[in-house]
Amino acid sequence: MYISVIICAVLLGLTLLVGAACARKNTAQKTENKSSALPESKSSKILKTRQQITDQLRLLKRSEAPEEKRGAMCYKMAAPPDRVEYNCPKCGDKTLYSGDLFESVIDDIEACRRIIDTIHVADDMKLILDESSFCSHCSPNAGKPQLGLTVSYGNGFSKKTSHISEIDVVLLISFLEGKQSYKTFNDGTEAIKKALPRLCELLGVDTNTVLKDPDK
Ligand SMILES: [Zn+2]
Repeated sequence: MYISVIICAVLLGLTLLVGAACARKNTAQKTENKSSALPESKSSKILKTRQQITDQLRLLKRSEAPEEKRGAMCYKMAAPPDRVEYNCPKCGDKTLYSGDLFESVIDDIEACRRIIDTIHVADDMKLILDESSFCSHCSPNAGKPQLGLTVSYGNGFSKKTSHISEIDVVLLISFLEGKQSYKTFNDGTEAIKKALPRLCELLGVDTNTVLKDPDK
C-alpha cells in the first residue's frame, strides 16, 4: 500500500515536472513566434521617377500644411575666425577664405555633403553637389564662389541649380523621404508646401504644372 502511494506520488511529481517543462517551452516558442511576426523594418531607400515626383508635388500642393514649430532663438556669440580653410574633395587642395564672410558658407557645404552622403536615393537618381567654384585649383578663374546641385533622373534628364544652401538640401531630402515638413537650423519645423516653387526648381519640375492644380 505504502509502496504504491510512493510510486503514485513519484509519478505525479514526474508528470508535473514534465508538464512545467513543456509549458516553459511553449511560452518560449510563443515569444519566438511573436518576435518573428513583427514587420520588417522599412527600407530607407526612396525610389522616385520624375513623374512620381511631379505627382507627389501635386499631392503636396493640395494637402493641408502641417502645423509649424517655431525654433529656439539662438545667438552666435563667438567671433568668426580670420580665415577659413576650404578643402576640395576632388583634388584635395586647400583654399583660404576670409572667416567673417565665408565661415557659415563653408559650414553649409560640409553639412550638405554629409546629408547627401547619408541619404539613399533611387539607384538611377543622383544628387551631386558642385563645389568646384570654391577651389582655386579646380576653378582658378571662378568669380564669387557658390554651391551648385545637380539632380539627375534615370531617363537622362538632369537639372542644375545654383546658390544652394543647407536648407535647400534639407528641404529636398525631407520631401524625398515623404515628409510634410522640414527641420530648420534652430530645431523648428516649417511646412514643405510653403517652399514648393524652390522645390520644383531644385527637382527640375515645371512650377506651373504643380501650382496650377486647384487646392482641395
Ligand atoms: Zn579642387
